[in-house]
Amino acid sequence: LLSADGTVAPTIFAEMSAAAARTGAINLGQGFPDEDGPAEVLEAARAAIASGANQYPPGRGLPDLLTAISEHQRRFYGLEVDPDTEVIVTAGATEALTATLLALIDGPDDEVVVFEPYYDSYAAAVALAGARLRTVPLRAPDFQPDLAQLAATVTDRTRLILVNDPHNPTGAVFGPEVLAEIVRLAELHDAVIVTDEVYEHLTFDGPHTPIATLPGAAERTLTISSAGKTFSATGWKIGWVHGPAALITAVLTVKQYLTYVNGSPFQPAVARGLRLDDAFFRDATTTLAHKHEILGDGLRAAGFVVHAPRGGYFTVADASALGGSDAAAFCRTLPERAGVVAIPLTAFVSAEHRADYAGLVRFAACKRTEVLEEAARRLASA
Ligand code: PMP
Ligand code: GLN
Repeated sequence: LLSADGTVAPTIFAEMSAAAARTGAINLGQGFPDEDGPAEVLEAARAAIASGANQYPPGRGLPDLLTAISEHQRRFYGLEVDPDTEVIVTAGATEALTATLLALIDGPDDEVVVFEPYYDSYAAAVALAGARLRTVPLRAPDFQPDLAQLAATVTDRTRLILVNDPHNPTGAVFGPEVLAEIVRLAELHDAVIVTDEVYEHLTFDGPHTPIATLPGAAERTLTISSAGKTFSATGWKIGWVHGPAALITAVLTVKQYLTYVNGSPFQPAVARGLRLDDAFFRDATTTLAHKHEILGDGLRAAGFVVHAPRGGYFTVADASALGGSDAAAFCRTLPERAGVVAIPLTAFVSAEHRADYAGLVRFAACKRTEVLEEAARRLASA
């Protein structure tokens, strides 16, 4: 985690947002919306502050939020979650993930299987937990794993299989045969499935399927999500993790010493959000799908080859035809050359696989349409 000179290297998101601030470029790097989420949810946070919800909430999370998460999982997926024992609130999905790894890794021989490219905190959290990272590549154009390669990577040394579906950065949504194979391998090798589903409400080809709904999965799966993407409130950092009570108790044991508790006024507001009507969730998906279309059209017009996403905030495009076969170098000069910030996929892969993703660039679509159109104009004339 330390760079060669012993200092802590900034995350790729901090580095790219700093580049946007320095150059005035449009920031399609870090994934955060440039518009607020639903007014009812914002108002609920203001009301909670005004009514004095400003001290430590309970360690597991506000009971009403735990109930709202349980109701949400039943309403959308038919999953039964006991709000008293099978779910806790965390400081975003990030803490849920790190606390889970710290709780469940026993020693340096434990392996964590991760799909690559991966969200940057995954490898860092595996390193913090002292486990070994084993990766399965997701390759363009569809970014689905090769099932034989997956089966060869999961072994009796595998403690956890870490899934991210819908997937950041590729925009992939795992097909049913991939999900079924993950569950089969987890059962075969007695591994726990940890699934990061923060983009659960942003899928473009039909509703999301949590892996925990597959036969045999729920008893060995920890499901992680967060309010950030669903309610366009990435700064609130309210997440959660649910699963079997014994596993949740282990995660809570770690969580209580990481952050203890978090965000008391945001918790009732997120409960309000999770109970919004179906129209809200539907509109969030169609609005984001439309933004991806505008971004994709703009990227194609500028000469990129676009890999249209099936879910999530990001569109991946190949810059090779634009002289961007080294996308890391391409992205480093893009703010000055084009007034746009984007992130090379190499930022999300381990050193030995960088070459496989060398020409690919990730663009965030969660921006106002006029911002996306302006970014497209700039890229076309760069
Ligand atoms: N997982 C994935 C796949 C993400 O894209 C993000 C946010 N960018 C996170 C986790 C972190 O979520 P949170 O802000 O709720 O910690
Ligand atoms: N999840 C967002 C992304 O992938 C932001 C992450 C961050 O800033 N740590 O861009």
